[in-house]
Amino acid sequence: VTQNETDRMIRMIQDLLHLSRIDAGKSELDVELVDITELLDHVLNRFDMLIHSTEYEDKKYNIERHLLDRPAFVEIDTDRMIQVLDNIMNNALKYSPDGGTITGRMRQTEKAVIISIKDEGMGIPKNDLVKIFSRFYRVDRARSRAMGGSGLGLAISKEVVEQHGGRIWAESVEGKGTTFNLSLPYVPFEEDEWS
Ligand code: ATP
Ligand code: MG
Repeated sequence: VTQNETDRMIRMIQDLLHLSRIDAGKSELDVELVDITELLDHVLNRFDMLIHSTEYEDKKYNIERHLLDRPAFVEIDTDRMIQVLDNIMNNALKYSPDGGTITGRMRQTEKAVIISIKDEGMGIPKNDLVKIFSRFYRVDRARSRAMGGSGLGLAISKEVVEQHGGRIWAESVEGKGTTFNLSLPYVPFEEDEWS
């Protein structure tokens, strides 16, 4: 218990430090051109391994994916974007019922790549869909306390996504599930650029 509580405290302090660096304008992104199709596939693979580990196997979660069948390049800070995807995936697991399926999707418009992570959990009331991105905000305190966490994950995710010029938003049907969407500016890759 002490170990867990210490870990939780360390995570919370790291989150708070990260937010205060962002507030102070001292959190610079270290961007590079990254194939987001591959990155998302990689993150989903890691969670696929996690749900099949002894800790999670009796929950019988499933992960499905409908990704683009080609690379899509975005300019991102890889570590930060992984942190965002990890938080959304961790939330999806945390609020999924046993046997629940988590679906990762990707699509592309002219100007953006849109990633969505859908779960079959308890959902989020309409009134809370925007508030969950505020610092420390958690739907239904009793339920949240049992789940652990401090309510900073989505606030950080929103800051990080906006630093990238992107957008994050949630949709939900209570009792049916939640979908988190993330759009990132797309860098068109001209195949004949060098010819
Ligand atoms: P932390 O991420 O700091 O460990 P947390 O997961 O509670 O804690 P956020 O990730 O910011 O914090 O989420 C805020 C709140 O939004 C959660 O407490 C929960 O009430 C709600 N929430 C987030 N994701 C989901 C989801 N997939 N299904 C249902 N509720 C969700
Ligand atoms: Mg979280």
